[in-house]
Amino acid sequence: MDLSLKVIMENKKIVRDGHIHSPYCPHGTQDSFDMYVEKALIEGLEEITFTEHMPFPCYFIDDKAFQDECAPNFEAINKYFKDVEKIKLKYADKIKINIGLEVDFVEAYEEETKKVLNLYGPKLEDGLLSVHFIKIDDQYVAIDGRDGFEQALNLLGSIDKVYDKYYETLLIAIQSDLGPYKPKRIGHPNLIRIFNKLYPLEYKNYELLEKIVRELKNRNYEVDVNTAGLRKPYCGEIYVADAFKELVNKYAIKKVYGSDSHTAKDVGRDFDKE
Ligand SMILES: [Zn+2]
Ligand SMILES: [Zn+2]
Repeated sequence: MDLSLKVIMENKKIVRDGHIHSPYCPHGTQDSFDMYVEKALIEGLEEITFTEHMPFPCYFIDDKAFQDECAPNFEAINKYFKDVEKIKLKYADKIKINIGLEVDFVEAYEEETKKVLNLYGPKLEDGLLSVHFIKIDDQYVAIDGRDGFEQALNLLGSIDKVYDKYYETLLIAIQSDLGPYKPKRIGHPNLIRIFNKLYPLEYKNYELLEKIVRELKNRNYEVDVNTAGLRKPYCGEIYVADAFKELVNKYAIKKVYGSDSHTAKDVGRDFDKE
């Protein structure tokens, strides 16, 4: 191959950010839609998706205040859709903007989730299905906060078991029936590594990881190559990493980069890293 062509191919710039939040995220910033889009233009992106958290169908944890911080309510998400439709038109000749949602997979609430998805589905152009909560007996634990991770560790007894539980939940999510609007891209599939510097583990359950990746392949799903992990103090890596990343490459699963921005300055961030 011509050397200059090879260099161009290896340096192929990522021009799509498939995971961006908005001023409606309760744990995000007030940065406006315009600020997010302007940053995307500065980064030279050609396509972005706003993927605000979809409202939960109901309360499934006792700490309602905490759950309210995780996702906007129904009223806010209606405003979100209106705003994204406006910003899409405003920048139509400059960048492709997709309307999306990040849908939480909550084990045992599949039917309820499907109902909410059916409500918004006709508006969706793109989206993510993510696991943030794992179900341990009758409790749901958010593993992307330190308290939640440590609670899971106490309940399950070892880091290994916490990883197993996370990946088992991810497999159930991929196989779940969430109806015709179920997102085709799995959000930050290695999120469980968020505290890997505090709780190091070389995960060895390749069989489970391969099952997940085979299931992704069979369904023609994509993965969110999520750069937010690089910004987390105890993570320092992208959320498609390690043995999982090797399998994603081996099975040629389609990758879509996502910054998981909750502030405009993070749009397109670290897309030159792998
Ligand atoms: Zn968020
Ligand atoms: Zn997420």
